[in-house]
Amino acid sequence: MIAEAAPFITAYLAMAGLMLGSFINLAADRLPRGESLVTPRSHCRTCGRTLNIVDLLPVLGYVLRRGRCATCRATIGTSAPLVEAVSGGVVAGAIFWQGLWPGALTGLSLVAVFGALVVAIATTRYRQGVRSLRG
Ligand SMILES: [Zn+2]
Repeated sequence: MIAEAAPFITAYLAMAGLMLGSFINLAADRLPRGESLVTPRSHCRTCGRTLNIVDLLPVLGYVLRRGRCATCRATIGTSAPLVEAVSGGVVAGAIFWQGLWPGALTGLSLVAVFGALVVAIATTRYRQGVRSLRG
């Protein structure tokens, strides 16, 4: 039973890693500006359009939009899908390496450290006058 369920749980946790990467991007974009992580809904910094489900798909949204806002064509920046891919990859990699347990714990812990690092880099860049990690 457990062995049969493992691929699905691994895929689910890798998805969770991708979503965490998406959240890391949000945090890296908003925390340096002192903005809320909850409101408003994610939107394009250039034209203000509220992002929809396609825009918000980790990695895939970036690929489908070819790295640009669907409305104003502003570039999104390669760091966003990169952060998402690394977060998903780290969770999947840790599970393949250590098994479901403690791989899931190791992976999520590494993503937490990675997220703190990304936010720290974004904050430093913001203070230096680079307005957004998203480009
Ligand atoms: Zn836009």
